[in-house]
Amino acid sequence: MRIITLSSGSAGNCTYLESDKSKILIDVGLTGKMAVNLMAMANIKANEIDAIFVTHEHIDHIKGVGVLSRKYDIPIYANAKTWLAMQAKIGKIASKNINVFKSNTFFSFRDLDIRNVSTFHDAADPVFFVFYQKQQKISILTDTGIVSSPIIDAVRDSNILILESNHDEKRLMEGPYPQSLKYRIRGEYGHLSNDMALEIVDELAQAKGEKIILGHLSSTNNSKEIVYSGMETLLVNKGIKIGDDLDLEVSEEFKLGKLIDLGGDYS
Ligand SMILES: [Zn+2]
Ligand SMILES: [Zn+2]
Repeated sequence: MRIITLSSGSAGNCTYLESDKSKILIDVGLTGKMAVNLMAMANIKANEIDAIFVTHEHIDHIKGVGVLSRKYDIPIYANAKTWLAMQAKIGKIASKNINVFKSNTFFSFRDLDIRNVSTFHDAADPVFFVFYQKQQKISILTDTGIVSSPIIDAVRDSNILILESNHDEKRLMEGPYPQSLKYRIRGEYGHLSNDMALEIVDELAQAKGEKIILGHLSSTNNSKEIVYSGMETLLVNKGIKIGDDLDLEVSEEFKLGKLIDLGGDYS
């Protein structure tokens, strides 16, 4: 499989994943136009997308879902409560393109096995996805206030882990957001802080060449430099060499990430 973040951050999320026989998007929290432009820059053809998988109905995950589905006749997959919550926001979808999966299940799509697991987040029925093909595993864990041991177990041994590192606690609390929003973000149903991302990587890092992409950064309450240097310090202290033992990237809003290729027979 291979994967590229088209955009990752509090203002818009969209990730492209390709396996031997599938080309999919996980969330489209950008305008349709911007998503298509970013895809073109990465040589991805919008009319070849086989499906869009939706984690939850927040606008930074669904803004362009309806537009792309209508324009390129793309099937959308979401759970029932997410469908209900997003329907009014994404506009009319052809009934043949409406697909419903059950939360906390495994299902197959073409050559992919897909697991979805509930997150702790203030949406109708939010989930994150883990993708398996052949011996490869890719997990995309964002938009959760906390991680439970089932979540940690679900993402363990991923070849690629996209992990939320949303905010620096101090910047958030001293920043311009209203008090209520600050407490929502740092709450149990909000977003993972940099410190929580560090704890998760501390638990999961194995130095077996896995690739970790930190994402869903808040542009107001975080910076790429803080996130990278914090994680670099942790890994150095663990005796893990970035680049040799493990790859580390930080993805950005409205900016193509690096294509990360685990290998495959792409069609
Ligand atoms: Zn969200
Ligand atoms: Zn989000």
